[in-house]
Amino acid sequence: MARYTDSVCKLCRNEGVKLFLKAGRCYTTKCAIERRRYPSGQHGQDRKKPTEYAIQLREKQKLRNMYGILETKFSSYFEKASRQKKVPTGLRLLQLLESRFDNIVHKSGLIPSRAMARQLILHGHFLIDGKKVNIPSYPVKPGQIVTVCDKARKLVKNLLENSPELTPPVWMNYEKENLQVSISRMPERDELDPTIKEAFIVEYYSR
Ligand code: SF4
Repeated sequence: MARYTDSVCKLCRNEGVKLFLKAGRCYTTKCAIERRRYPSGQHGQDRKKPTEYAIQLREKQKLRNMYGILETKFSSYFEKASRQKKVPTGLRLLQLLESRFDNIVHKSGLIPSRAMARQLILHGHFLIDGKKVNIPSYPVKPGQIVTVCDKARKLVKNLLENSPELTPPVWMNYEKENLQVSISRMPERDELDPTIKEAFIVEYYSR
């Protein structure tokens, strides 16, 4: 499976925002964007005013990198979102991304980064409704119970003790003692990251 292998901090610097792609480091003064708040590369500091297309492209890349998804998968999420007529496409896209298995595991506060959550899921350390699921993109539905398998409980508890504590969103139920998570419903727009401008992404794919 293809995956991004360069420095993830470059992605944050290129988008000009914190994407929280590393675990503890993102919450410290060692964060690269805190020290160098300009795009990476030789000409990072002398970039011109972006065009409308560049703004739309950057917003799409920002969201894609935030969730660590490759282009093909991301555009398939957009297609799926645009087929849903009851919910605006931009919001539906965000809901599809938020309900990914790796995102649920990370956002609940169980695992400090999405990349780490993805790795542990691939190794079969998490269960959904008692069954092993090793697909990070698996869409978790409201009511389904995500837990840690017995052999990984010690590892996850160690990670929890040594990572900054994250507050789970209100649409998620997290039982720290049982290392168990579920979602009660899909998130509303005002419960999601306000820095994401999904209208630009819709415009990008509508060109
Ligand atoms: Fe981004 Fe985290 Fe690196 Fe900071 S430390 S630049 S938030 S990945």
